[in-house]
Amino acid sequence: MSNQYDVIIIGAGAAGMMCAIEAGKRRRKVLLVDHFKKIGEKIRISGGGRCNFTNLNTQSSKFLSQNPKFVKSALSQYTQHDFINLINKYKIKFHEKKLGQLFCDHSAQQIVEMLLKECELANVTLKREFNITEIDKNKNQYFVKTVDETYLSQSLIIATGGLSVPKIGATAFGYNIAKKFGLDVLETLPALVPLTFNEKILEMCKELTGLSVEAIVSLNKVLFQEGMLFTHRGLSGPSILQISSYWKQGDDITINLLPKLNIYQFLEEKRKLNPKLDIGNIIGDILPKRLAQIICRDNKASGNISELSNKLLKKLSDNINTWIINPTGSEGYRTAEVTLGGVNTKELSSKTMMSKKHEGLFFIGEVVDVTGHLGGYNFQWAWSSGYVAGQYA
Ligand SMILES: Cc1cc2nc3c(=O)[nH]c(=O)nc-3n(C[C@H](O)[C@H](O)[C@H](O)COP(=O)(O)OP(=O)(O)OC[C@H]3O[C@@H](n4cnc5c(N)ncnc54)[C@H](O)[C@@H]3O)c2cc1C
Repeated sequence: MSNQYDVIIIGAGAAGMMCAIEAGKRRRKVLLVDHFKKIGEKIRISGGGRCNFTNLNTQSSKFLSQNPKFVKSALSQYTQHDFINLINKYKIKFHEKKLGQLFCDHSAQQIVEMLLKECELANVTLKREFNITEIDKNKNQYFVKTVDETYLSQSLIIATGGLSVPKIGATAFGYNIAKKFGLDVLETLPALVPLTFNEKILEMCKELTGLSVEAIVSLNKVLFQEGMLFTHRGLSGPSILQISSYWKQGDDITINLLPKLNIYQFLEEKRKLNPKLDIGNIIGDILPKRLAQIICRDNKASGNISELSNKLLKKLSDNINTWIINPTGSEGYRTAEVTLGGVNTKELSSKTMMSKKHEGLFFIGEVVDVTGHLGGYNFQWAWSSGYVAGQYA
């Protein structure tokens, strides 16, 4: 029967394409479907159009999951170096931007084209704008139905990703299928997402829109030292995106705007050595001018440093070294890079990504409760989990 396949993969994103390639190489008859018209859209827009496709420092500690050890098997079966070998085979030029993050020199589109070419070489049948009306199982067969056709397969792979950026195709489809088959799905939340604030802080962010500083952003014992960006909606930049994956409603976050300096000690020394110096100028020399002005204004600190009380110096210093703020929320799935939570890893074999309850049913990529830090880890998870399922589907 022409609609009979060995493997049907739903979702032609990073994980789905990798899985299709690997299953195809094993001479499995593979159908890869996506409801969106464009394939690999998330890859194309990723990393500012240059796709941060992996990270040299990939290891399990860079992932959030209810079971952080779950990622180990897949990451060791298909490593960052395996993906780099594939990139090299296609002569795609890349560079390390910072912290082990690898980006294409030219365009993320090269990755999409490479994956499509590999699918073609592996004889994968690809269908776009494929709208599924129902999925079912009878004995060892899976049925994927559209309005006018039914497709059958031995293995069914769910690679429909998370909820972030719905305008390029994200849906809750994968979670719903997991629930339909009786699998536990953990609460989902937007992650790697800008944070929003009350009016007072928002006003400050608006005044400073576009300004970026190297900051340490921390929450409980987790901290990130990377760039932080003021925007007209709140705070963003790598350090904020990273902490957002750990932030829950009600939590305070602490920001050190000048990690290299103990400001209180520094100001005390200044007061001793140069009492006539203007506090605005002192802060303006160590922080960007606009930020310094706002911090001095908000703390009502002006005039010669000798005139400032210890209490005021302390308040000013705290505002720079330990600025504690309470986000009111995040920008949500509209701008989140990833989705926290998803299919509970305890439902899946970490070696194969197959459901423990249903032979032949696999979940891979972001739909699973595995979320990487910012820096290429989420794609590496997609490649690794896709590769693994491709060996067993
Ligand atoms: C703006 C942005 C930038 C990012 N940059 C990076 C980066 O540089 N590095 C990094 O590591 N990660 C990055 N990420 C995260 C990364 O893109 C994802 O973690 C990764 O794409 C997940 O792969 P996936 O295959 O699981 O899901 P996706 O790539 O999201 O693919 C899922 C596919 O399933 C399809 N689908 C959904 N519902 C259905 C349905 N009902 N029927 C059929 N098909 C369906 C979708 O159309 C989509 O094609 C970024 C994310 C965003 C939003």
